[in-house]
Amino acid sequence: MHEPGGATVTDVTSNGGRKVGILLADDRVEDLRVLTEVLASPTHELVTATTGAEALRHLLERDFAAIVLDVMMPGMDGFELAALIRSRKRSAQTPILFLTGVGSDSAALRRAYALGAVDYLCKPVDAEILRAKVGVFVQLFEKDRRIYEQAEELLDAARRTRELELEQVRLTGVRRYQNLADAIPQIVWTADNSGAPTFFNRRWFEYTGAEGERQWLIAVHPEELPTCEERWKKALRDGEPFETICRLRAGDETYRWHLCRVLPEQGTAGETVGWIGTFTDLDELLRAHRKAERAIRIRDEFLSVASHELRTPLSALLVQLGSLERTVEGAEEKLRRKVSAALRHTNRLTKLVDNLLDISRLSTQRIPLELEDFDLSEMVRDVGDRFGEEARQAGCELVINARHGTIGRWDRLRIEQVMTNLLSNAVKYGRGRPIEVEVGSENGAARLRVRDEGIGIASEDQVRIFDRFERLAPAQHFGGLGLGLYITRTIVEAHGGAIEVASSPGAGATFVVRLPLRALEWTPRGSTQVEEAR
Ligand code: ADP
Repeated sequence: MHEPGGATVTDVTSNGGRKVGILLADDRVEDLRVLTEVLASPTHELVTATTGAEALRHLLERDFAAIVLDVMMPGMDGFELAALIRSRKRSAQTPILFLTGVGSDSAALRRAYALGAVDYLCKPVDAEILRAKVGVFVQLFEKDRRIYEQAEELLDAARRTRELELEQVRLTGVRRYQNLADAIPQIVWTADNSGAPTFFNRRWFEYTGAEGERQWLIAVHPEELPTCEERWKKALRDGEPFETICRLRAGDETYRWHLCRVLPEQGTAGETVGWIGTFTDLDELLRAHRKAERAIRIRDEFLSVASHELRTPLSALLVQLGSLERTVEGAEEKLRRKVSAALRHTNRLTKLVDNLLDISRLSTQRIPLELEDFDLSEMVRDVGDRFGEEARQAGCELVINARHGTIGRWDRLRIEQVMTNLLSNAVKYGRGRPIEVEVGSENGAARLRVRDEGIGIASEDQVRIFDRFERLAPAQHFGGLGLGLYITRTIVEAHGGAIEVASSPGAGATFVVRLPLRALEWTPRGSTQVEEAR
């Protein structure tokens, strides 16, 4: 919309309306005086100019409702001035009324209209006609100005409504945000991008007993304060989040451990517009975790002492039974069977005690390996021979497929333990069906496979059976502590190898162990890392 210059009209009429400017340009002072007299009115502000240049200066300063121009002026004549007036955006629409004393020369008339004159009057002007013509322009100008002002008012009203609505939305958002922050059990605070606090939720005031919104650092324990301050300063500088654990002072002057998390809040262009911080109370959790660690340590110490104490008389008993077995070699069948059964049970008891001893060791230290070169196939055949009786008693046919030599560098006793654990499980869970053991090699590694046709293992349980104390079968049907496979895996991994199982319920299980041929290259002697799984 064209702005008709109401803003530059500062003079005010008696009835409160603003005066309307009319520019009168004529080189003859006498003619100007006549024009001024004719057009004088309380609602008009008549601005006079005796040269084209002076008229232009006035036009630069303000807007006019109409311009009355004398055609014949020295220097810049009325036509040139009209051309300049039209070329300026601000005055391009201002009505121009030409005055001439030359009479109605038709060429001059055409030129005047071509320059956008709205009318043409001859001197001496008829006062009534001039007043009437200028009056029409003034009316138009005022109408324009009123329309413009009304439009401005409407726009203003619309702007104010929109601002109110936006403020409403903002307030609703803030209220919801604060309600949410008040509803959660954590402490929540916000700060502006300089780090100055802007909000603390209810929990902050409940916990700290603080009044007013001060910096969150006031509640941090003096020991953690320097770290918190440093991390906060760095976060403010880099716009990066941080997390730390610190004690916070409660209203009763006690301290509780909290997880402190501070995150930058980002604007649409990714710039940091503020900060959000939370404190989560970890006190109970940390105390329980301490307590739990202590309980585990006590358990492991007990296991270690108990299994040591049990191992000593058991070793003596084994020696005694071994010599008793030799002594009764020629004795009657019944006696021999009883002695070998006693020996078998004692062996089994020894194995259980050994497992307990291993477990207590594995939780505190690495597993030491005594590496030597030996033939895995030969070892597997030996263990198979020793298991013959146990397998027979369980009704399982034991097939050992280990004809070819598979020489490697491993810990003989530990690998025997692996084989024993897998075979005894195959016998225990094998439902009296055949058991097949195979030794082979693949990709430069030795492979030991133990396959049974027993109860099998569901796929969702196949990972956890290698963890400590994990048992699937009910204790009343199958004894065991759930330690054998954990120890087996630990030994295999200590050699740099891996163990896996393929099975499905009712279809038996196949355990495959892969060992690098030279364990030394993978794990230096005596420094094998054992996972401290809890
Ligand atoms: P456990 O002393 O209880 O046998 P293990 O660590 O040797 O402990 O085995 C963990 C669990 O894995 C067993 O309780 C059993 O449920 C399952 N399991 C192990 N070997 C077999 C197998 N050959 N067939 C079926 N289930 C098995």
